[in-house]
Formats: sequence, structure tokens, C-alpha cells
Amino acid sequence: MKNIYFTVGPSQLYPTVKKHIQTALKNEIPSLNHRGPIFKKLFKDVSGGLKNLLNIPASYQIFFVSSALESMERTIMGCVENSSFHIICGSFGKAWAKYSYELGKNAIEEEAEKGDGIELPSVKVPKEAEIICITQNETSTGVWFPPKDIHDLKKRYPQKLLALDLVSAVPYVNLDYKYIDVAFFSVQKGFGLPSGLGVMIVSPKALVKSQKLFKKGVSIGSYHSLKSLSESAAKLETPETPNVMNIYLLDKVIKDMQRKTLQKIRSETDEKAKLMYNFFENHKKYSPYVKNPKFRSPTTLVFDVNGKSGAIRKKLAKLGFIVGAGYGFEKDNHIRIANFPSHKIQDIKKMLKHLW
Ligand SMILES: *Cc1c(COP(=O)(O)O)cnc(C)c1O
Repeated sequence: MKNIYFTVGPSQLYPTVKKHIQTALKNEIPSLNHRGPIFKKLFKDVSGGLKNLLNIPASYQIFFVSSALESMERTIMGCVENSSFHIICGSFGKAWAKYSYELGKNAIEEEAEKGDGIELPSVKVPKEAEIICITQNETSTGVWFPPKDIHDLKKRYPQKLLALDLVSAVPYVNLDYKYIDVAFFSVQKGFGLPSGLGVMIVSPKALVKSQKLFKKGVSIGSYHSLKSLSESAAKLETPETPNVMNIYLLDKVIKDMQRKTLQKIRSETDEKAKLMYNFFENHKKYSPYVKNPKFRSPTTLVFDVNGKSGAIRKKLAKLGFIVGAGYGFEKDNHIRIANFPSHKIQDIKKMLKHLW
């Protein structure tokens, strides 16, 4: 039976991916020399395509790494000498702070109550913090930060670097990247690709900071330091032999999304999110986990099902709908449903019918 994966990552493949994999095999993409002209063109196309799709300034660089977790470490090593500041609404934000601490930095945390966001307009960033790290869309709890609050925070602290985990929000989230110094995602969520590729979006300001640390003798990492990634990217290369197959597929899916237009993807995402939140708000026994609508994620939705998570997931799985369990200790209390560009409104409607 064919399943539909509403899991938050890995998730349902983007509908064109199967066809692109077949073309890639036919064109011998997995054997492609990663220092040769075809790869260089691919590198140029995919970074240009991503900048175009997400409206990223031309001066920013795109780096390919292995995952989002790696990007968290790269961000701390590349941009922090002593102190980082972390706004935490769940497990991924918490992990980022932990990595900073494990790298020997002073990781200052501001943590929300469970299932709640943080009012960014009233956040005071500590003086010593060199960077503000925010999980813009916290997949473990379904909390997200409105883009405007993030832009305004940077306007209040223009001298600090701002780094965003966008893993489960791209390509949907509509950000003004001129306020953002580092952003990253992995491709197995909103882009509907196989896992094993992370993408970093890095501003000139973050690179300058990295150079400064390097000159001071602070360790910024080795082959995947921001400096090394930047020097390779300038040659349209990666330091190591990268995941060429996935970079190829990302290029193809970006082109498909450009053809569809991001505007259409965004409006469909809004429509699907509204449908699901309305359904669970009106449900007798279940409810949205995030109470304040302002902080509710449109792309990774978490619902409180009163300990019925296992039973619901089992019932839906029999019908071919795979939804996620709650994260960590909320495993049995929550279900998590992804609302990515790969997910069709008809399938969501069909799935919800079985949840009454
Ligand atoms: C999935 C996820 C990650 C981890 O992604 P990997 O590709 O496994 O490194 C990090 N942050 C958020 C918000 C996520 O949803």
C-alpha cells in the first residue's frame, strides 16, 4: 500500500522527486566529478535558485553541509568567541544551546513555558552575547516566531549577529534576510527530499566575524569552518565530496517550486493550516497544543490528543496516513502533522475524517 507521510521529517517526498531521481540515474549524476564544470554549474544554479526563491541578498553565500545539527555547530564555532544567547521553545533550541556549551562557550538561555512562545519585543539580549540563536519553527512543540518579531529584534540589536534554525519552516516562511546573519535548514522537511543534506545561508557580516576569530587564534573548525566553506563556494565547490545527488535534486525541486510560485505554495500552506487548526479547535476531546494562535506553526502542527497518540497513529497508519508521535516525553500525548508543500489538501481532508 502507498502511504502518505505527514511526519515532520523525513516526510512525504515532493511529487516530482521520483522522476528527478530516475533522470539523475540516467544522466549518471552519482558519478559526476565534484570539481568538474558540470558540478560547478549545478552549484551556481542551486545557490542562485535558492536566493531567487527565498529572496536572499546576492552578497550572501550558500553552503552545503551534512545536516541542520551540523549547521548549529558550524554557526557557534564560526561566530562565537565567548557567549551565545538562545531563545528556546523546545528540544531543537535546547540542543543548539547544549552544543554551544559543549564547545566551551557561555550559552545563555531564555526558555519558554512548555507549549508557549516568547514575546520577542520584551526580550533583553545580554550585553556579552555575540549572537542570538532562534529556532524560528520549533518542530518538537509546534511553536513558531512571527517573522516581524524577529526582524524587530534585530533592529533593536543591530550589532549582534542573528542566527535562525529554519529547518521545518522553509520554503514557506517569509523572512527579510537582510536582518539575518546565518540561517540553515536540511532538505528532508519542507523541500520533500531524501535526508542527508544541510544548507546554510551566511551573510558577509557573519563571515567577517569568522575571519576575526580565526586571526585571533580561536578554533573555528577545520574543513567545514565557515572560512573553508566560503573559500570553496567562491570556486563553486565544497571542501569535501558532497552529497551531489541531493544537491542535484534540490536544484530540480527549487525549479519546480519556482514554476509553481512560492506565493501559491504559501497560500496553500495557510489554507491547509487553517483547516487543521479549525478542526482541532472544534474537536470535543483534542486541541491544538500551542494555545496562543500567534505562536502556532503553520508548517508543523502539534495537537494534544489526551494520551491517545499511539491509538490514533495506528488507526491512521492502517489507512495509509502516517503522522508523527509527540516529541520526547509528550510521545503519547501529542500527534504532530507536517504541512509542507508536498502535502495535498484533499489528503488532509481525507485524514481528518477519520479523527472524529
Ligand atoms: C529536524 C530538525 C533539526 C535536525 O535536522 P537534521 O537534518 O536531523 O540535522 C533541527 N532543527 C529543527 C527545527 C528540526 O525540525
